Amino acid sequence: MSQPLTTEQSTKLVRANVAQSLGYVPGEQPTDTVTIKMNTNENPYPPSPKAMEAIAQVTPEQLRRYPSPSALDFRLAAAKVHGVTPESIMTFNGGDDLLSVIIRTCTTESDAVLFLEPSYSLYPVLTELHGARKKIVNYNIDGTTWALPDGLESAQAGLMLIVNPNAPSGHFNPISQLESIAKKFAGVLLIDEAYIDFASESALALVNRNENVILLRSMSKGYSLAGLRFGYAIGQPSLLKQIEKVRDSYPCDVLSIAAATAAMEDQAYAASTWDKVKSERKRVASELAALGFTMPESQSNFLLAGVPNSFSVSAKQIYQSLKERQILIRWWDLPRISDKVRITIGTAQQNDLLLTALKSILT
Ligand SMILES: *Cc1c(COP(=O)(O)O)cnc(C)c1O
Repeated sequence: MSQPLTTEQSTKLVRANVAQSLGYVPGEQPTDTVTIKMNTNENPYPPSPKAMEAIAQVTPEQLRRYPSPSALDFRLAAAKVHGVTPESIMTFNGGDDLLSVIIRTCTTESDAVLFLEPSYSLYPVLTELHGARKKIVNYNIDGTTWALPDGLESAQAGLMLIVNPNAPSGHFNPISQLESIAKKFAGVLLIDEAYIDFASESALALVNRNENVILLRSMSKGYSLAGLRFGYAIGQPSLLKQIEKVRDSYPCDVLSIAAATAAMEDQAYAASTWDKVKSERKRVASELAALGFTMPESQSNFLLAGVPNSFSVSAKQIYQSLKERQILIRWWDLPRISDKVRITIGTAQQNDLLLTALKSILT
């Protein structure tokens, strides 16, 4: 039998841009049940009980058949919640799937995908895998104030990706600023609203007024369904029709459509989890500030806590010490954020454990 294919040999069998890409590195998913997970921004509360009931009620006959290609039940439920037509909604196998599909829909190899840094680290990876050019624009960061630089609207790019509220900072870019960009930008502006349920305002109204605006929504964070893989786009129907050609024919399965629909219909339950996260966010932010951390105002379900030079430990050491205590947070060895840690808001009890651990690490 011949030797297994080496990495070196495998790179010759794939496109050069794929061989050169490092790929995306997802946040750690510990397999034990004791670790407190504050590293990938999941909602700390369980999903709506109605989502679980909907999965239990799926019949063998439903599994035997293909699902609704357009996830009609979900689109009807989401359309009602958002006050838009069902044709303005298109579903995906998670928000990340929409990102991959929109890059393939809107850009050729000679076009650029514009995104900000620091921002969602999947954007550069998907862009390089597709083979489009990366146009990286830095956020203006002044202390704890983050702002979009001027001139984005005149950038030469087929697609612009802006997360709002931003990850990993949690700061909120004013909707009026996003609309000014959309009005003049020649390409498609995707506003990634993965964390919008924890914010005070959405860019929803921009979709009707600007044909080049698409919103990304996810069931992973706000609806506690990260394990389900379900996301959707809100945009003008004719643009969604183009995107539909590129998307899988059945991106969402019967189980996920049933659960996502029930969760979307149970707005009161989801909103109760958002309220708890937001009030804990306020408490944790003020406790962290009292310890000396600095951070932008977050409209998300996480905080980007800056570690001042005066601390006896670095951001990396804080990440490592918490990990030894079975609390996972996120730290990146990247320019401009290596002196910061990102902490997902947990339940009140989890947050207390985090704060107690931090106090002991800092003294
Ligand atoms: C979580 C997230 C998404 C989408 O996540 P899915 O789990 O694929 O729905 C998109 N953008 C950002 C910035 C995110 O954090």
